[in-house]
Amino acid sequence: MLLPFAHFDINDMKAERYLKHIERLIRQRPSSGPSLRSYGELARLMIRAEPAHQPKTTTNEHLRINGKNGVPLFSRGDLPLDFEATSFLLNRFFSYLSETKRKDKSGLAKALEQSEKGLEWNDRLFAAILKQDEHMLAALAGEVDLDPLTLLFLGKTALRPSLEAFRRLMEEIMDEKPWHYGYCPLCGSPPDMACFTRTGKRSLHCELCGQEWAFTRIGCPFCDNRDPENLGYFEAEGEEGWRVYFCNSCHRYLKTIDSRVFEEVAPLELESLATLHLDLVANRNGYQ
Ligand SMILES: [Zn+2]
Ligand SMILES: [Zn+2]
Repeated sequence: MLLPFAHFDINDMKAERYLKHIERLIRQRPSSGPSLRSYGELARLMIRAEPAHQPKTTTNEHLRINGKNGVPLFSRGDLPLDFEATSFLLNRFFSYLSETKRKDKSGLAKALEQSEKGLEWNDRLFAAILKQDEHMLAALAGEVDLDPLTLLFLGKTALRPSLEAFRRLMEEIMDEKPWHYGYCPLCGSPPDMACFTRTGKRSLHCELCGQEWAFTRIGCPFCDNRDPENLGYFEAEGEEGWRVYFCNSCHRYLKTIDSRVFEEVAPLELESLATLHLDLVANRNGYQ
């Protein structure tokens, strides 16, 4: 059975709200202005993205989340994404950024040249990101004299509309099954953030596709350590509503926002960009 297409229909209202969140966060956290502003520029290009991103059709046997065995719906390398539209968007990023005053604009111009030759170079980049192939990413970055982290960020951002379309389609058609694991039920990726909901439950946010799912309040999603002696959190001064939970068994950490403390919570990828200083503190304390 073929399933319907879904469009990444970020309509004007929603787009406007998204950009308003960015402006509000910049006002509230001037120190995160540079990273939020450059993301905002990409978001503007993303919102106007044409053609619309459509996840590939898929058959319904893919759609049973196996809650018992903990098998996610897809693996990162097999996600039915619209790579053509994603590639088109990435070209726009390279083209726009290579015209700015950035220090790495000549690298961005080289990347644009590569990506304009055909889909192959961009496809290799998307494959490297999805399969978390650091060697491939470093090799591609080396070919165009760019920092691998810049290339990773741009590639991931270009994938976002297609991932969003995929996630929405899955939400419409998949069976709701209990899922208690520390990785994403849709794509198997680890969380990059967590949130306490208004009812005090903890939900995790997938670092790749943005899916959110409920997880136990106490316990490390990365290694499943539940020993309170080996778990902890810290709060930064003047940051009520934010905690960084850490695990002394696997040395990972998770930034967590308590939505009960805030009037408004932005999409978590924006909240994460607004709190990069918390990542620095966690890194400095030996957590990854
Ligand atoms: Zn995911
Ligand atoms: Zn752990």
